[in-house]
Amino acid sequence: MQRDIQEPWLFTPGPLTTSKTVKHAMLVDYGSRDNKFIQVNASIRRRLVDIINGRDEFVCVPLQGSGTFSVEAMIGTLVPSAGKLLVLVNGAYGKRITKICDYYGRDYVVNETAEDEPVDLDALEQRLSEDVDITHVIVVHCETTSGILNPVAEVATITARHNCKLLVDAMSAFGAIELDAQKIPFSAVVASSNKCLEGVPGMGFCLVRKADLEQCKGNSVSLSLDLYDQWVAMETNSQWRFTPPTHVLLAFNQALDEFDAEGGVQGRGARYQQNCDILMQGMIDMGFQPLLKPELQAPIILTFHTPSDPNFDFQVFYDGLSERGYVIYPGKLTVADSFRVGCIGRLDSEHMHGVLAAIREVLDLNNIKQCAA
Ligand SMILES: *Cc1c(COP(=O)(O)O)cnc(C)c1O
Repeated sequence: MQRDIQEPWLFTPGPLTTSKTVKHAMLVDYGSRDNKFIQVNASIRRRLVDIINGRDEFVCVPLQGSGTFSVEAMIGTLVPSAGKLLVLVNGAYGKRITKICDYYGRDYVVNETAEDEPVDLDALEQRLSEDVDITHVIVVHCETTSGILNPVAEVATITARHNCKLLVDAMSAFGAIELDAQKIPFSAVVASSNKCLEGVPGMGFCLVRKADLEQCKGNSVSLSLDLYDQWVAMETNSQWRFTPPTHVLLAFNQALDEFDAEGGVQGRGARYQQNCDILMQGMIDMGFQPLLKPELQAPIILTFHTPSDPNFDFQVFYDGLSERGYVIYPGKLTVADSFRVGCIGRLDSEHMHGVLAAIREVLDLNNIKQCAA
């Protein structure tokens, strides 16, 4: 756990701690038409399709911006103006999708469950049986608001049975939790460079079934977020339409090398699961109460209820941890006061024990005894 500069460890949902080698890969300026850069870009696109076992059925369309830009691009490009989207909501990222639909004037309906409950499969079945106008369903794989894992495979089966297309926001799960296109029927999935794939922030990507994307010409009302146009241009001349985030792509390529070296989704998922287990046990031992039932917890980010101890003040707690080099995250729940501790990024069991020791120290320093809600 050596740090040569005063750099914090990020126990957050992103941006995340990256390896030195990933950061180092950015120290080159390539032009966007440079052959080396074009090769790196093509290789990244191929490797991302391989992660979902997309074979020749899926294409990768990368896009500048944070993850939300790609979520917006996916919806704006894949759902035609005559379509209707069913949004499965159990947290802030699902809600954000409805806001995107509002901006685009896309017709949509919502199936909502509580933030500590997975999306409701019976309600999905019923809604699709009743409302035959629905053309697409969208689900968030791991709802980062709480850290809950949604049953994407079951959602996909039901959606396919009703001849609707499934879109997946797998932003915080992609690369750590399996999503195999040969086992799970979906039309498109979106994620970004800077979550479980451990690159730096600056780009997202959409993996789309080629046969579906081919029908999307003219759907988007946004030029810069038109995935169809971005795809056609990239297929035609191997280039990005507008200035590519070259340094981000170089870092991403290195991050994918490290992802492969760790054993891909299985290896990465195993490290995060171990991180999650250590963190959860340590927090429970100190008396903190997790929001989720254990079987619903994804190994991505953990939500705890705010302690009831009158001496507990989140800002003081946060600052105390931050001074010790550990950055956690406030809660985003609407139903209860909470805070979150992430377990993804270039962090391992040593870092988990480190943050637990720092939490113990800050609790003692502030005379906090009652960690339960
Ligand atoms: C992080 C995240 C996003 C995108 O967030 P950005 O801040 O725009 O990168 C979208 N959906 C989920 C589930 C996320 O975890």
